[in-house]
Amino acid sequence: MTKLFFGEALLPGGWARNVRVEIADGVIASVVADAAPEGERHAIALPGLGNVHSHAFQRGMAGRTEVAGPASRDNGADTFWTWREGMYRFGLKLTPDDMEAIAALAFAEMLEGGFTHVEEFHYLHHAPDGARYDNVAEMSARIFAAGGAAGIGVTLVPVFYAHGGFGPQPPSARQARFLNDLESYARLVDAARAYGATGVAAHSLRAATLEDVRAVAAMGAPMHIHVAEQTKEVDDCIAALGARPVALLLDNAPVDRSWRLVHATHMDAQETARLAQTGAAAALCPITEANLGDGLFPAKPYLDAGGRIAIGSDSNVRIDAAEELRTLEYGQRLATRTRNVLAMPGGSTGRRLFDLALEGGETGGIAIGASADIVSLDVAAEGDAILDAWIFARAPIDCVWRGGRKLVEAGRHVAKGPIAARARAAMERLRAG
Ligand SMILES: [Zn+2]
Repeated sequence: MTKLFFGEALLPGGWARNVRVEIADGVIASVVADAAPEGERHAIALPGLGNVHSHAFQRGMAGRTEVAGPASRDNGADTFWTWREGMYRFGLKLTPDDMEAIAALAFAEMLEGGFTHVEEFHYLHHAPDGARYDNVAEMSARIFAAGGAAGIGVTLVPVFYAHGGFGPQPPSARQARFLNDLESYARLVDAARAYGATGVAAHSLRAATLEDVRAVAAMGAPMHIHVAEQTKEVDDCIAALGARPVALLLDNAPVDRSWRLVHATHMDAQETARLAQTGAAAALCPITEANLGDGLFPAKPYLDAGGRIAIGSDSNVRIDAAEELRTLEYGQRLATRTRNVLAMPGGSTGRRLFDLALEGGETGGIAIGASADIVSLDVAAEGDAILDAWIFARAPIDCVWRGGRKLVEAGRHVAKGPIAARARAAMERLRAG
């Protein structure tokens, strides 16, 4: 039995003082407020957040795509599509060992950044030429191994990818690692389930037809899909299929609470209201969306219509839950030239953003029976001002527990040295090769 004691803690019912948390077998066994100090003492406890969208391997190219391309390329502008070429080149070189090493670093940094669980949207299934590994779930197994090394909770979301564009168009050779038909995808999902919690995903309406999307969704949950991230994707979808992508999905697939629509950046007012009514979460990845120049999600009308959001670190160019939430709010402020856009009237913006991310991420909170996933902060503030300080000012993460194991101490993952060294060796080899 581990005993932790916090000066203040955010519990499902709200803030409580002098909270003692008892942990047995990784699960919270008791939570007592106004308790006498006992056990290991910390200032503030928050529940760990769920990171609902990650491509862990892309951590290996973080900071390496910030150089402008030649002016002749794509009308002279660097865009998501030029970035994607770099990502394909990098992804083509990755071995299973590289995947495991880089994913472990990304997962350790997620814990340092306040995420205790990740839903890994995984599409690098095969060898670079498309040949199957002896174990079809080899790369999936490596992601679970990386999760084990870092200690984060992992739900693997193997991605169905069959086409190169709307129409459908044939895939390119650079997409060979991603490809499956529905049968081989079902075998892959089954094989991945032997290693841990596994959901399902279709990459996008570019890579999967509506028939594919329905078939994949019938194979499990949660169901993930990238949608409407780029205006070009919306234009191509209208040209090929006669409707906007979110509308098309809502009209042709059983979108419900178990779905995560990743980005959903470009929706008209009708799509925004309709998506909100489904109970599905819009999986927003504000740092990546800013980095890639995607555009701004219509957060205010969507939330006003009762929509759910969740937060993802996506490209993992930076991994920090507070920064994701700050970037989400700042985008809205810059676009509307107003402040505290996503707060409830009279309420704290930090609290609203945190509550939305916590609910959407579906981690258990600090409650009896939940996995002991706790983030402690070192900050002199009370109540919702703690969250405003964490998200908008400076309130560093001190310790993080996942399943009762203390994995971050004084802001650093306890195995960061060896995990980072292994990832660095992999990244240097990839850059040289
Ligand atoms: Zn993504």
